[in-house]
Amino acid sequence: MPQLHTRSRQLQQRAEKLLPGGVDSPVRAFRAVGGEPPFVTHAEGAYLFDADGNRYLDFFGSWGPMILGHAFPPVVEAIQQAAARGASFGASTAAEADLAELVTQCFPSVEKLRFVSSGTEACMSAIRLARGFTGRNFIIKFEGCYHGHSDAMLVKAGSGVATLGIPGSAGVPAETAQHTLALPFNDLAAVEAAFAAYPGAIACIIVEPVVGNAGTIQPAAGYLEGLRALTKEHGALLILDEVMTGFRLSLGGAQQLYGVTPDLTTLGKIIGGGLPCGAFGGRADVMDFLAPLGPVYQAGTLSGNPLAMAAGIATLRELIAKKGTIYPALEKTTAAIADGVARIARQAGVPLTVNRVGSMFTWFFTSNPVTDFTSAATSDTEAFGRFHRSMMESGIWLPPSQFEAAFVSMAHGQAEVDLALAAAQKAFAG
Ligand code: PMP
Repeated sequence: MPQLHTRSRQLQQRAEKLLPGGVDSPVRAFRAVGGEPPFVTHAEGAYLFDADGNRYLDFFGSWGPMILGHAFPPVVEAIQQAAARGASFGASTAAEADLAELVTQCFPSVEKLRFVSSGTEACMSAIRLARGFTGRNFIIKFEGCYHGHSDAMLVKAGSGVATLGIPGSAGVPAETAQHTLALPFNDLAAVEAAFAAYPGAIACIIVEPVVGNAGTIQPAAGYLEGLRALTKEHGALLILDEVMTGFRLSLGGAQQLYGVTPDLTTLGKIIGGGLPCGAFGGRADVMDFLAPLGPVYQAGTLSGNPLAMAAGIATLRELIAKKGTIYPALEKTTAAIADGVARIARQAGVPLTVNRVGSMFTWFFTSNPVTDFTSAATSDTEAFGRFHRSMMESGIWLPPSQFEAAFVSMAHGQAEVDLALAAAQKAFAG
C-alpha cells in the first residue's frame, strides 16, 4: 500500500528545476488528476516500483507498448544482445527487413514500410507522403484524436491537449493549421460535407480506428467502411493511425478486427517493444514516392535503430507464436476488470460509462454513452481525479487523465483483477 512519497517528491522538485514541469511529456505531471507522480525505479510484469519502495499495479503500460508485461525476458535478452553488438550504425542491418517482414505478415495492407523513432514521426511522415502523392494540401482529422505533436496535427487534438483543455498549441502558424479540417468522430455526414466543400483538395483522412486519445471510443457500425468508401470516391488516401491499436486489438490491429483496408497505416508503441520506434507503411506505389525512390523527403539518424528492431522482433515473434492464446486471454482479463469496476460503480450509484475494445478501455465518469469527443467531454473530470487518487493510494496506477485509454498486459491475471476490483470498491465507498 503506497504511503511514503518522500523520495519521489524530492526527485520531482529536482526535476522541476531542470525540466519544464519536471517532465518530458506533459501528462506525466499528474496535473489533471492531482496527487504526486511517483518516480519509477524499475518494473516487472504487471507492476511498477517507485523510488520510495512502493509497488503499483500498472494499467497504462508505458501508454501502450508493454503488451507482454514489463521486462519480458526474451525482449530483455534481445536488447542486451543487440546492445553488445553496438547501439547504432547509421547503416542498414538485416534486422530492419526482419521486423518489416513480421509487420507485413501481420498487416496485409502494408506492402512496404519505413521505420522511424516515434508515433509522431510516423504520422507526420505519412501525411507528408499523402500530400506528395496526391498533390493536395488539405487533411481531415477528428476531434479528440491524437496523431503526435507535429504542427498540422495539433488541431482539436486528444491526449494531453484535451487533458489540459487547450484547443491546440501556441507556436503553430495559422497558415499551417488552416489545411487541417477537424471533424467530429463517428459522423460520416460531416466527412461528406467536407469533401463537397473542398473538391479535389483533400489529400487524406487520418483516423484512430478505435480512438484512444479521448479515452476509448469505438467506431460506429459502418463508420470505418464509410471513410474507406468516401476516400476512394474522392481520390484521397485513408490513413489508419494504429500507433495504439496495432498488435493490440488483434495481431493485425483494428483493420483486421473491422475488416477495413487503408492505403497507409501508422504504427508505434508495441512495434518497438518499449524502445523508441514507429513505422508508416502501406501501398507500394504510394511508399515508392519516398526518397530515395521518389520526391517526398523523410529521414532519421536513429531510424531502424538496432536495439529498437531487436526489441520489436522479440515482441512480435511472441505475439505471432501465441496469438491464439494471447488475444483471447487479454480480452477475458480486460473484460473482468473493466466490467467489474463498472458494476461496482453502479452498485455505489456512481455514473460510469465503460468503453472497451480488446485490452484497451476507459471508465468515463458520465452517464452518457461516449461516441465522440463532445460526449467524452461530459465526463466529470473532478470525480475522475478523486477516483485516480484513491486508486493510486491503493497501489493501482491508472493513466492520469480521463481522456486516455487504459491497457492490460499478458502479465495481468486473476490476482490483478482481484486487486483492481478491491481498490475500486474502496474508491467508490469513500
Ligand atoms: N498516434 C496515436 C494514436 C497515439 O496514441 C500516439 C501516442 N500516444 C501517437 C500517435 C504519437 O506517438 P509518440 O508519442 O510515440 O510520438
